[in-house]
Amino acid sequence: MEDKLCVIKPRKRIALVAHDNKKRDLLEWAAFNRDLLARHELYATGTTGRQLAEELDLEITRLHTGPLGGDQQIGSKIATGEIDFLIFFWDPLEPMPHDPDVKALLRIAVVWDIPVACNRASADFIISSPLMSAEYQRLLPDYREQIEGERVAAPRLLGPPAADQPEIDLL
Ligand code: PGA
Repeated sequence: MEDKLCVIKPRKRIALVAHDNKKRDLLEWAAFNRDLLARHELYATGTTGRQLAEELDLEITRLHTGPLGGDQQIGSKIATGEIDFLIFFWDPLEPMPHDPDVKALLRIAVVWDIPVACNRASADFIISSPLMSAEYQRLLPDYREQIEGERVAAPRLLGPPAADQPEIDLL
């Protein structure tokens, strides 16, 4: 089994998300970097997207607001190769009703090996990287062996499956 190369083009598809206490931070960062962001294709969760569109006067594809599934929509787009880069200023001090979605989004970004910035300093480093205007080949790990291993190992941990219980296909 081999890892796969996946090309990120010079024009990146960037998702922007900020929790309420972090929206001002993201808006200021985005305004400062407006001209750089304008070279890319932008996506955002509902409220973040509305505020960014007003502030930047740029076209932004708006998804649902986070608590109603916006984070999950972005996660889905990462998994289908439609988002290359995630800027997610999440709030480390406030519990959210959609905390499981936040965790899922961060997890899926790691699974698919896309660049993620969760605070302003990381976003500064990433946006100023020469790779932002270049083609980049990310290496997609081949998880099949690990997943197949888990599928074989699970019944041993849980005991033999019942005769009428089909094996779950994780792939
Ligand atoms: P919002 O969602 O941009 O609609 O506020 C962000 C979030 O809470 O994840």
